[in-house]
Amino acid sequence: MRTLKIVMGLIVLALFLPMLSGAANGDTETIRVAVYKGVQSVRINGIGLEATSSSGSRLDLSFPLIVKRDGTGLSVGGQNLRSLKIVSPGFVQVNGKGYRGTLEIYPSEKGLLVIDEILLEEYLVGLINCEISSQWPMEAVKAQAVVARTFALYQKQSRKNLLYHLESTVYDQVYGGSDIEDSRAARAVEETHGEVVSYNGKIIQAFFHSSCGGHTEASENVWSLKVPYLRGVECTYCMKTPSVLWEQSLSPQKIASLLRAAGYRVAGLENILVKSRYPSGRIEYLDLVSADRIVTIPAVAFRKIIGYGVIRSTDFEVKLIDDAFVFIGVGYGHGVGLCQWGAKQRAEEGFSYREILSYYYPGTRVVIYYDE
Ligand SMILES: [Zn+2]
Repeated sequence: MRTLKIVMGLIVLALFLPMLSGAANGDTETIRVAVYKGVQSVRINGIGLEATSSSGSRLDLSFPLIVKRDGTGLSVGGQNLRSLKIVSPGFVQVNGKGYRGTLEIYPSEKGLLVIDEILLEEYLVGLINCEISSQWPMEAVKAQAVVARTFALYQKQSRKNLLYHLESTVYDQVYGGSDIEDSRAARAVEETHGEVVSYNGKIIQAFFHSSCGGHTEASENVWSLKVPYLRGVECTYCMKTPSVLWEQSLSPQKIASLLRAAGYRVAGLENILVKSRYPSGRIEYLDLVSADRIVTIPAVAFRKIIGYGVIRSTDFEVKLIDDAFVFIGVGYGHGVGLCQWGAKQRAEEGFSYREILSYYYPGTRVVIYYDE
């Protein structure tokens, strides 16, 4: 009887474990990542590689192999092909970097497009050390694993009719292949196997950034997207990061030429003034002051034009000192969703990855997307 009660209890528990989808399976769930875009040639190498053409016929090629863009197609070992597929038993090297899964190479507008189709769980192990360090506290690494899985699955659903689901750059998530996998990254992925962040039973858009500099940002203040779980929250945790403060000095001529190239009419830039700020402290609008006019520009657009790595965030002061504009700011990134350096500090203070995630994505819960 006691055994029956325990079994019944386990069944009830299993029924209440939240699941998003019964159809998904961790052994087969893949993601398609654009690992190279716009390059003129790539060098493919590896052991036991099998190459096929777009029609599916097996190609007799020797490796290492140079693939080049040729007219509207590819030039591969003296043959002209519309596309190329490479299957490996383990890893395939592209320009010296190792990738798991299957590679597809296509001609694109500006050169070559190389797509890696890889098991999502394996992709996540390689991703961890591109985005953060696996040496961070384990709960922060697990939070990153769940966020990256959530982000990838959301993009896969919304881009299911496209050739690939994810960029391998900061425009989606940074991914540099399998060479920097390690046991701690693998552990964080394994211990959160199949888990995603959900809101009202749906996978969320799990945006994240490096450091928020004191307060995360509501999504509609950065993009035309308003969702209940991407609200700004206070985060003093990342302020202990030495690199949270930044300074940049730029000449008025340099700034004016970048703005003009982006279509803003500024001649003889005399001053840059903060017109308004959001409650988070980030700038909403800047006034660009020239001799004959004032041009108002959203700070988000200004950052994009000058460069995301130059103006690291839109939370800054700007002063004209000795013929140069000096920007002094806090934080790195758009500020929406999880703050990576804040998550690290929260993990060091003893918070679990679930607590970290529910803090940066209010009203959400961690659920299982697939459990195999
Ligand atoms: Zn923060």
